[in-house]
Parts: sequence; C-alpha cells; structure tokens
Amino acid sequence: MRAETRRWIQADQSHCWHPFTRQAEWGAPGHEPLVLTRGKGAWLWDSEGRRYLDGNSSIWTNIHGHAHPVISAAIRSQLEKAAHVSFLGFTHPGAAELAERLCGFFPKNSLERVFFSDNGSTAVECALKMSLQYRQQTDASERDGFIAFADGYHGDTLGAASLGGVGRFTGKFRDRGYRVTHVRSLDELAELDPKYISGLVIEPLIQGVNEMRAWPHGMLAALRGWCDENAAHLILDEVMTGFGRTGKMFACQHENVIPDFLCLAKGITGGYLPLAATLTTGKIYGAFLGAPENAFYYGHSYTANPLGCAAALASLEVFAREKTLEKLAPKIERLRAGLAALKAAHPIVHDVRQCGFIAGIELRQPDGSRFPPDQRHGEAICHSARAHGLLTRPILDTIVLMPPLSTTHAELDHAFAALDATFSRNPGIDTRPASR
Ligand SMILES: *Cc1c(COP(=O)(O)O)cnc(C)c1O
Repeated sequence: MRAETRRWIQADQSHCWHPFTRQAEWGAPGHEPLVLTRGKGAWLWDSEGRRYLDGNSSIWTNIHGHAHPVISAAIRSQLEKAAHVSFLGFTHPGAAELAERLCGFFPKNSLERVFFSDNGSTAVECALKMSLQYRQQTDASERDGFIAFADGYHGDTLGAASLGGVGRFTGKFRDRGYRVTHVRSLDELAELDPKYISGLVIEPLIQGVNEMRAWPHGMLAALRGWCDENAAHLILDEVMTGFGRTGKMFACQHENVIPDFLCLAKGITGGYLPLAATLTTGKIYGAFLGAPENAFYYGHSYTANPLGCAAALASLEVFAREKTLEKLAPKIERLRAGLAALKAAHPIVHDVRQCGFIAGIELRQPDGSRFPPDQRHGEAICHSARAHGLLTRPILDTIVLMPPLSTTHAELDHAFAALDATFSRNPGIDTRPASR
C-alpha cells in the first residue's frame, strides 16, 4: 500500500464518522477502506490505481458518468463568476433557468413552482411543511397527519425520518416527528379516516431502500384518485427515481400522474453537487401569498447554490445532446437479460428485481431460506466483487446494481462478469461467518 493511502486511511479512521456505518468495525485494525481518488465515465479509481465500475452510481446519484466534460465545464464556468450567492433576497440566472426547465417537464398550470434545498431529506421536509402550512392557511388545520408506506425511506432529518418505514433506521426517532400512519397497500387506505390527512407520501414505482421492490402497475394512478377523492396531497419522493432512472425522466410519467408535490435530489445535478428541489402547484403556492404570516419561513444558507444549478442545467443539456433516455431503452433490456442469466446460473440468486435501470439481486441460501443476518452475506459479496472490478453496496442481502445511465453495453457486461465470478466463488453454501 502506498504511504499516502496509509496516511489518508489513518486520518479518516482517527477523525471521520461515516453515514450508516458501524464505526467500531470501520476503525478496527486491519480494515482498509478504499480511498477513491478519481472517476471517468462509469469508472472510479482508488488511491492504489485500481479501477472499478461504479455499480451503484456513487450511492444512486450519478447519471452521465464522472468527470463529464459538459458538466465539469459548466461548473468551472460558474466558478469563475461566483461559487455562491444568497437566494434569500436575491436571485441568479442559473436558479431562474433551472426552475423554468424543471416546470417545463410538466403540463402548463400543473407543477409550476420550485423550492430549492440541498438534499433528498430536505426536499421531502419542505413538501411536508408546505403541506401542513397550506392546511393551516386554508381552514383545514385538523388535517395534520400523513400517510406513508411500510418499508419506505424518505431521508434522515427528523420529519423525513418519521415517514420512514424501515425499522432498523428509524426505530429510535420515528415517533418524534410528524403524525404518520403507515400502510402496506392501497386496500389499507380504506380503513383510514381521511379527514385528518394532509398528504400521502410514496416512492413511486419502486421502493429503493426496501431491497428494490416495485409497486404494482397502476398503483400510482390509483393513489392519485384516492388523494383527489379525499382532498389529500399526493407527495412523490422521486429522489431515487428522478432523472431517467426508471426509463422516463420522472417515474410519475409512467402513469401520467401529476403530484401536488414532487421531491427531487440525488440525480438532479448529474450526481456532481448537492442540490434538491421541491416542485408544487400554483394552487398550493397561492395559499402562501397574501398576509405576511402566510409566507413559507424556511430555507438553508446554500439554497439554490449556483454551482449546483449550473451542474443541473448542464445535466439536462447532456440528456438532450446524448439522447440519454433513447439510448437507455436497449440498456434496460440488456440489464434484464443479464439479471436473468445470473439467476439461471447461480442457485444463490433467489430473485432479481428491476425497474428501468435500477436492479436488485436478492441472495438466499439455495433452499430459498434467507441467510442468517449476522453472516452479512450481501456485504461479503460486494466486498468480493471489488476484486473483479465492481463497486456496489448491498441492502441486507440484496445487491444493488444501478450504474450511471451512460454505462455502455460493454460496461454492463463487465458488471455481469464481475458478479458471475463473485457468485461462482461464493456459491452460498458456505456457512462460515462472512469475513469482511
Ligand atoms: C436517498 C433518498 C432520500 C434522501 O436523500 P438524501 O439526499 O440522502 O437526504 C429520500 N428519499 C429517497 C427515495 C431516497 O432514495
């Protein structure tokens, strides 16, 4: 190992605290985290010069690949002007243009206002607060609850976490936030008293953190109907699904549904800078006009950061220039075929799930039973895949495969070959505790 690598690891292990990480293991002697130093296209390099395919798009953010010349140039050009200016009391060209472009994806007079923030959690947080404040300003303050789905994930700030249905993440804080009723299906909505509901929140088409599980087709349109009948806001969390991931620019377009709030983050800048957007309708916006106390008193210092807006505009330009979505359709089919081949070849592959260019590969023991959780098989498999030039992260024992949309057919084949080799070496019948 190079001396530099050793120094970085030592500094990290002495001072960094990583997200969703058991720090005792992270800091243990002998744990050598990869130090990622460089990216190009779908590939990342570590500090030892080894190359890996970015199999989960750097935690679901990257769209057009790393170091894309158009996005990098746009950021550089904005950097020459100003890295940041306040959006509180001022505006700037990038934010104005980006808001117009985002609304332009939807029919006129539907989603027509954009509130910028910094990440997926705040995008959801804004929608929740706007929904509640709207109720207070429209004589409906009894509507102070939300509906969310079991096993859903909407972020980690207190309000967003109270929507979350993944017990191992939110158990300790879930009851401290909003009043949320969790349901599993459309049918369970019938048992609720909708008079107290401000909004219903869902990850459309597919729940990401719930091991990549897709909803039945038609679910979204049915939910739109339920919300309309019961005067509830439909809040779509497209933090993962937005920006082409499902094969269309936004997941809601698959069922021609327009929500009352649309939450965007991760892919909005192509995966280059933290930026988020909460889109809403003119009707909701209208309730925040009038009396001064009707204003939405919410914001963050880096709201609508100009570098982020420049990256987001450049990313949309790349979608158009490179015909990203047109080229994605055959890649989605190749992904489907590759997943089917893995399932056919390896008894350890219990199920493969796919929605557009998002895939989950669920591993189980050959008899169909789950691995004991303390074996952490998914983690061990992802660790082994590094040796075959693939980086990704599991959700429990489901291996996530969702590389950048720019990934070529040959690069997809590289990912499949890496998984094939990894599964061949780990057929799943070895019951030793997984070493990490
Ligand atoms: C990642 C994610 C979030 C949270 O976004 P952050 O930027 O990590 O705060 C919220 N909802 C969904 C569906 C996500 O995938």
